[in-house]
Amino acid sequence: MKLREYEAKNVIREYGIPVPAGFLIRSENELPAHLDELGDRIVLKAQVDVGGRGKAGGILMADRATAVPTAHSLFKKEIKGLPVQEILAEQRLDIQHEYYLSITVDRSSKQPLILFTEEGGVEIEITARDNPAAIRKAVLLPLMRDIPPFMLRDLLGTAPKEIGAVINKLYRVFCEKDALLAEINPLVMTPCGVFAADAKIIVDDNALGRQGFTVNRDLTEREAEAEKHGFSYVELGGSIGVIGNGAGLTMATLDLIEFYGGKAANFLDVGGGAESERVRHAVRLVASVPTVKVIVVNLLGGITKCDEVAKGIIDADIPQKVIARFAGTNEAEGRKLLSGEGYEMLDTMDLVVKRAVEATS
Ligand code: GDP
Ligand code: MG
Repeated sequence: MKLREYEAKNVIREYGIPVPAGFLIRSENELPAHLDELGDRIVLKAQVDVGGRGKAGGILMADRATAVPTAHSLFKKEIKGLPVQEILAEQRLDIQHEYYLSITVDRSSKQPLILFTEEGGVEIEITARDNPAAIRKAVLLPLMRDIPPFMLRDLLGTAPKEIGAVINKLYRVFCEKDALLAEINPLVMTPCGVFAADAKIIVDDNALGRQGFTVNRDLTEREAEAEKHGFSYVELGGSIGVIGNGAGLTMATLDLIEFYGGKAANFLDVGGGAESERVRHAVRLVASVPTVKVIVVNLLGGITKCDEVAKGIIDADIPQKVIARFAGTNEAEGRKLLSGEGYEMLDTMDLVVKRAVEATS
């Protein structure tokens, strides 16, 4: 789950990384009370869950006299389609240079990876494409508490030494907050030293409980519902709903849909041993996606019984047609149950997918 800028800044401030003085406001009327502490140069930052807010008009400069009307206009805006409900009002920094710093998990080495570049102020993706040598990298052993000085020296190059302390502190944040990403972009040099002008932390969804979060704000309503039932669920935007048992079988179904030129609406793995009740929830969930025209159920009966699944499909009582393939435990009973109108039972997953693609094209 992604923390908002002000939340991420509160975290890194606790770890001793310098952050500009700032206040979160939900209306411009809250601003006058903070003006004395903010001083004359102010920056107003929309707290919306999208990147590139600066370019999208979500970051406005103001001074004491213009702060309230500027905040008023920012609250009226939509940034990349999202309404502005919270603004972080901060002391504006006098930026002399921008750096990029992030810590993430390197998927190939399966170790924490630090990225640092002295050429900040440009999107990191663009630097990675046009000037990859400018991005310095260090891979850490997961049990390291501190980054060895020689590694910091290599990362920093000609950047000021005090940034080394920031990197060490951000690494502690990364470890202790179960982060998948801890990023400061830009990390800026000012006449008063180095500051984090922006911050982003993504907490591993598997660690939300340990980190004190009761809900995952990043999930859509349907994704939250799926999580409640313990389904593996991903939305993909097409018109064929997909339900399978086991990730491999469900993935293979998606591949086949793609192969025959169709578009899957989702991936839903009900898991092993699903009872009819569970299947009913799964079918209703997939049927509630507005783009879904047909639903493919691809089932391999092992500990899962085909007749339980058939019951669940019937109980769901959805308007879309269900095209199914059952193989394994209680296959015959399952097939018999699903012989009514609105259902189609075919012998192989190949046939099922072909029929679903025909029905949606
Ligand atoms: P993002 O666009 O969502 O990543 O938002 P950032 O917080 O990274 O801000 C984008 C850009 O706005 C930064 O790269 C800076 O150039 C500028 N900016 C942000 N805060 C300040 C500030 O306090 N002073 C000045 N001068 N520029 C700022
Ligand atoms: Mg930024």
